[in-house]
Amino acid sequence: MSLIDKALKANEQYARTYDPSRGAHPEPKVAVVTCMDPRLSDLEAILGLATGDMDVIRTGGPAVTQDVLSELVVSTRVLGTTEILLLDHTGCGFTTFTDEGLNQKLASLTGNSEPGPMRFFSFEDPEHHTGLLREVLVD
Ligand SMILES: [Zn+2]
Repeated sequence: MSLIDKALKANEQYARTYDPSRGAHPEPKVAVVTCMDPRLSDLEAILGLATGDMDVIRTGGPAVTQDVLSELVVSTRVLGTTEILLLDHTGCGFTTFTDEGLNQKLASLTGNSEPGPMRFFSFEDPEHHTGLLREVLVD
């Protein structure tokens, strides 16, 4: 059984016991931009915030891409969040490669450099990365 099959089976069980009152529209108070790293999955424990208080936007790195900026506009202007929390972390997978190296690897694996080069938002230092992201969000 694949993990997706296992997840679908678990979802069937979850749906049988789902409380419809949980379907009410949440009113998040803070937008959390964080990495897709599974070690950051338990944000309630990591940040001490309730699930419904967070509008979580996940991206690799985390990179503040044009899509993330669009989601932040929706979060702050439509959903009503009033704060933005940027959660970077040490040991990020995006520090283990460079955009150039991964583009070269893809071209080598496929024998084709198209479409490319792609931007993967790799970085080296989480603190420096967070500072750069802060500049993007504040400016
Ligand atoms: Zn990461």
